Amino acid sequence: MLIRDLLAFKTRAQVVSIRPDRSLRAAAREMVVHNIGALVVTDDAGELVGVISERDLVRALTLFDVGLVEIPISEVMTRSVITCTLQDTAFHVLKVMNTNRIRHIPVLKKNQIYGVVSLRELDRAYRHLQSQALTDELTGLSNRRHFLQHLRQEISTYKRYGNPFSVALIDIDHFKRVNDTFGHTAGDLVLQSLSDVMGQQLRLIDVAGRLGGEEFAVLFPNTAASDAYCACDRLMDSIRRQTTKTEQGDIRITVSMGLTASASNTADAESILKQADTLMYDAKAAGRDRIVVDAALDDIAGIGPVQSAGQASMLTL
Ligand code: GH3
Ligand code: MG
Ligand code: MG
Repeated sequence: MLIRDLLAFKTRAQVVSIRPDRSLRAAAREMVVHNIGALVVTDDAGELVGVISERDLVRALTLFDVGLVEIPISEVMTRSVITCTLQDTAFHVLKVMNTNRIRHIPVLKKNQIYGVVSLRELDRAYRHLQSQALTDELTGLSNRRHFLQHLRQEISTYKRYGNPFSVALIDIDHFKRVNDTFGHTAGDLVLQSLSDVMGQQLRLIDVAGRLGGEEFAVLFPNTAASDAYCACDRLMDSIRRQTTKTEQGDIRITVSMGLTASASNTADAESILKQADTLMYDAKAAGRDRIVVDAALDDIAGIGPVQSAGQASMLTL
């Protein structure tokens, strides 16, 4: 992320400057009036000569006994003006601010003061971008990257403490037909209502992700395959019963699932997903609208590798 992108987050890219011979009282007033945490100090020629922040004012309180408010800003302002440009990366600026223990940094554009960025804003924008980078925009579920992070975490917990986990891969049946018949926008609504159903049906600790397109996954932490199977079965049922209302008509879908678990494979997150994907394709090949469980899972061997949902596709086409 560049500083330029960060400034786009600011609701108010206000820069208030003040002369160095003004008093601390004047500086405090400006900060209150403009509701900002720092002022840039410029000389008569408009050159940047310092920065004065709320923190400088507070520190001044401990340095000067009397007449604090009439002391000129030049006495307490931060002089070694460290600046940054719109092209600097936020990461670099964060490092510079931490190293120099500063909380506000003026941003220059063609040597003119363009804005002031605070450590707090930098931090907030960073966290916002980070969560954006992990969330699927359409559904609000974890994206593939985030899902894999959760899965890797679960694998290491399993290796350390032996807590079982299960993973289901879910793919909408004949989704192309939904798009072709009802349009892409209606297709998007279906993806959203599928994620709503997942949100309603799954436990808070379960992690639902959209891996891409019309492919979803669920990580069931601390859950053996037999329990995960019951959860998947319930989920499938709710998905079948869910109707997405669109201007073009009501849409109902079914999904195919592949279910694997830690008891079968804990090599790495990608290979677990691949295994679940293979099982999901077996479910497609066996007629869709069903769950195929990993044959290597002893605790649900009774269910058999293929469990038919016993219901024909309910896609309203
Ligand atoms: P199958 O039962 O074999 O899974 O058939 P399918 O039609 O679901 O599978 P296919 O892979 O042939 O088609 C997937 C479709 O998903 C094609 C693509 O246009 C659609 N799709 C992928 N991402 C999105 C999206 O974000 N929004 C919408 N509306 N459609 C999407
Ligand atoms: Mg599909
Ligand atoms: Mg697919």
